[in-house]
Amino acid sequence: MMKCMLLAAVPISFCSLAGAAEGLGCASGKAPFAIAIHGGLGETQYSSEVQSKRRALILDVLRDAQHSLAAGARAIDAVSSSRARLEGSGLFNAGKGAVSNSAGEVTLDASIMDGLDRTTGAVANFKSVKNPILAARLALSAGNRFFVGPDGENFAANIEHVPKSYFVHVEERPQPKPTQSGTIGAVVLDRCGNLAAGTSTGGYNEKPVGRVGDSPIIGAATFAANGVVAISTTGEGEYFIRTSAAHDLYAQMKYGKKSVEAAAKDVIVNQVAKLGGQGGVIALDAKGHFAVVFRKSQGGLLRGIAKKNDIKVGVFESMESVK
Ligand code: ASP
Repeated sequence: MMKCMLLAAVPISFCSLAGAAEGLGCASGKAPFAIAIHGGLGETQYSSEVQSKRRALILDVLRDAQHSLAAGARAIDAVSSSRARLEGSGLFNAGKGAVSNSAGEVTLDASIMDGLDRTTGAVANFKSVKNPILAARLALSAGNRFFVGPDGENFAANIEHVPKSYFVHVEERPQPKPTQSGTIGAVVLDRCGNLAAGTSTGGYNEKPVGRVGDSPIIGAATFAANGVVAISTTGEGEYFIRTSAAHDLYAQMKYGKKSVEAAAKDVIVNQVAKLGGQGGVIALDAKGHFAVVFRKSQGGLLRGIAKKNDIKVGVFESMESVK
């Protein structure tokens, strides 16, 4: 209730973003809906207890999204609501659980893209919004904006802000490591055949003050175009920026007529890795084919996918079906 009141002044219904099957627009659509979520590279940096919690939450979010999408939820809404839950958990490097920079401050980056009309929204270096994904969604509604830093954060005055104490402190982290990173992302195909994608992160810990990675950059970490593909990446953002990774993957499919698997492999193996970068990508094509590619040396990539009658989850190469 509080959340709805706080968001009452914004032009789209954020109350529905946190709910399951509201904002239905695709109930009569026939496309083979699907949602895939990733929790970032480096799963084995966490204790087994935390890994179990992360897996359980991913599954829970996928089950909810499966119901919403079956009921006709739009892809862009499923991207927002699934990521908002992960951001609020403190279990992922995004939102509440975001790592801090070299000055000990949490800074948040996020982006979202609707493949229906190629609208986009992004935020970077935000310090107090509770859900960067909701801020990115608001930026989309505000006219495809990219808002940056404390001045940019003022635009999101109508969504919930939190004090510094809200964020999980490093000493409370399950296994503090010098190079903690990770990101969350979602790619969705709804029953109308619309594709949407989003990515959200705290970057990597001890990152230089003011550094922004690929996650808020459309075409680097995030891209979606109806009829082709929805994409979200994770890894060393500088390399994804240098290769325009998400847009390159899209272009290989659109103009080079490659499959989603072949295009994803090319971007990670022949481009990001060839420059010396570590990373991974999840991508969903317009027919619901899912591709995941990542460097195996990076401690796995937690991800899951839900379709009409199936949910699968995996960390390393294989993915297992879950009841
Ligand atoms: N891509 C993110 C960044 O460079 C970090 C990550 O995905 O691990 O900010």
